[in-house]
Formats: sequence, C-alpha cells, structure tokens
Amino acid sequence: MIKTPKRAIMENIIDGKLTAHEIKREIKSEVEILIESGKKQPHLAAILVGHDGGSETYVAYKIKDCEEVGFKSSLIRFEDDISEHELLKKIHELNENEDIDGFIVQLPLPNHIDEQKVIEAIDPNKDVDGFHPVNVGRTVIGLPSFVSATPSGIIELFKRYQIDTSGKNCVIVGRSNIVGRPLSILMSQKKINATVTVAHSRTRDLDKVCAKADILIAALGSPEFIKADMVKEGAVVIDVGTTRVPSTETKSGFRLKGDVKYDEVAPKCAHITPVPGGVGPMTRVALLGNTLIAAKAKS
Ligand code: NAP
Repeated sequence: MIKTPKRAIMENIIDGKLTAHEIKREIKSEVEILIESGKKQPHLAAILVGHDGGSETYVAYKIKDCEEVGFKSSLIRFEDDISEHELLKKIHELNENEDIDGFIVQLPLPNHIDEQKVIEAIDPNKDVDGFHPVNVGRTVIGLPSFVSATPSGIIELFKRYQIDTSGKNCVIVGRSNIVGRPLSILMSQKKINATVTVAHSRTRDLDKVCAKADILIAALGSPEFIKADMVKEGAVVIDVGTTRVPSTETKSGFRLKGDVKYDEVAPKCAHITPVPGGVGPMTRVALLGNTLIAAKAKS
C-alpha cells in the first residue's frame, strides 16, 4: 500500500499516473520474488487484428508495461481480413499454450467477426481482460475473478486515496459492459458500500441526477459533457472518458479529452482524476495485476 502523494492531496488531484507507477514497482518486486523462487516469468500475450491507430497504441503500451515489470510478452498480429474461424483457432492455441498465463484480444474487431464469440472462446482462467461471462458472473456474486481493467483500476484509486465510499451516493454515467456496468456492481459491493445509480442515454434529467452525486463517474465518451452545474460541491469526480480530438500541439496530431469539463469542475471537487494521467494508467496497470494473479495461480 502506498502513501497518498502529498502533491495530489494539495491539488485534490487523484494522480493515476503516479499511483500506477507505484503499483508497477510492487508488481516488479513480486515478479523478482517469483523468479528467485524458481518460477517462470509471467507471460501476457496480445492479439491485434488490423491497424486501427488507437488499438496499435494501446497494445504497444501493454507490451511496454510488460517489459517494465519483468513479464514476458507476445504480440500476435493479423490483418483485418482474417476469418473468424482462423482467429478462434489461434485463441484455442493460446488457451492450450502452457507458457502463456493470460492473453487479450484487443477490441474492437472487424465487423465480420463476432466479438462475443471471441470473448467466450477465451479460457476464463486466462481471460485477464475479465470480459468472459464466467468472470463477469463471478464478479457479480463477489467470487474471486478477473475484474475488467478499468473498473478494477478505479476501485484501486478509491482504496489508495482512502476515499470514503460507504453510504455515498454514486452516479455512473454509462452502462457499457467494460466500464459502467461492472463498475456499478463493484461500487455496490460490501467493502465499497456505495448506493449506485447507473445513468445512460435514456436517463431523464441527467443534470439533476448527476448533481446529487457524492461520487460522479463519467464514462460516456462525450468530451467535456459534464459541466460545473452538474456537479455537487465537494463531490469526487472520476473521468473515464478518453476521446481523441485533433490537436496541432502534439506530434501525433491528436490529444485525449475527458468527459468532464475539467477547468470548471475541478475547483468544486474534493477529488478529481485528470485526463490524461487519471484512469488510463490505472487501466493499464490493472491488466498487469490480473496477469500476475493468473501466473501465480498456475505456479
Ligand atoms: P460505450 O460502450 O460507447 O458506452 C457509452 C455509454 O455512455 C453508454 O451506456 C451510453 O448510453 C452512455 N451515453 C452516451 N452518451 C450519453 C449521454 N449523452 N448521456 C448519457 N449517457 C450517455 O463506451 P465505453 O467503452 O464505456 O467508454 C466510455 C468512455 O471511456 C470512452 O471515452 C472510452 O474511450 C473511455 N474509456 C477509457 C478507458 C481508460 O482506460 N481511460 C477505458 C475504457 C473506456 P446507452 O447505453 O443508452 O447508449
């Protein structure tokens, strides 16, 4: 357990980058202990289909993260005309490969491939993204499971910053299977004990619903959607949104924007996550955490 960074307390910023860095150090020392005791290096594999810019970047980060903590990594690439059958065959191979502890299939996949079929083909014991229905179901009833990375990273931030969640009114905007929905389950579980509302595109009077939140989690993918008048004074605000918007100020030609209008919301908050540097790094480190769990379970 790390100490909450002093700078972050002063500025009310929940510093995901710094926290993720600390967790990586912890994982690295666990890997060193595993190897010293004669166990094999944890091994994460990633399947990347096609050349989507965002997916390329995310997978490259995942491989780099593995190197940093001492994991072995493998990148398996396919062109976007790969058949569903071929992809499923590769997944079965990875399921059987004893050296691979966990693997992910980077989403989204081309339209001709059924994503759900692909997710369900992954051995739940190697499903370190936590998307398989077995892991989702186990999470729902509070059994040990691989929890999907973004919700898991957010829960870790609450714990490490010792944010009081018990009995708090938590509003999550967004109900996707990878963020909003699993997060709503985790936030309502014992130990976290929040009272959860899940809002979505059909929610009436969303601004009023948000303004009642002690903890507001924005996961809708609409840049700067959450304005100051939607946020209660003293709320904790978690911004999951990462939309790529064009920028002339960066080498890549784009930058990431969150779902929260940060400049006007931050002064009202007890705590807030920035974009970038908030939830994103915690998502990355949560995948490493799941891979370590998978490796330890086998050894
Ligand atoms: P998604 O699958 O598109 O889901 C978006 C959700 O937001 C849906 O439930 C949708 O409602 C709801 N929504 C959209 N517009 C809304 C509006 N105007 N008012 C109320 N609800 C609205 O998105 P996602 O995969 O969950 O991702 C959400 C955002 O988080 C994206 O920016 C994504 O890039 C980002 N993200 C970041 C990380 C990270 O590590 N930082 C990880 C994952 C995702 P309906 O269900 O009614 O359509």
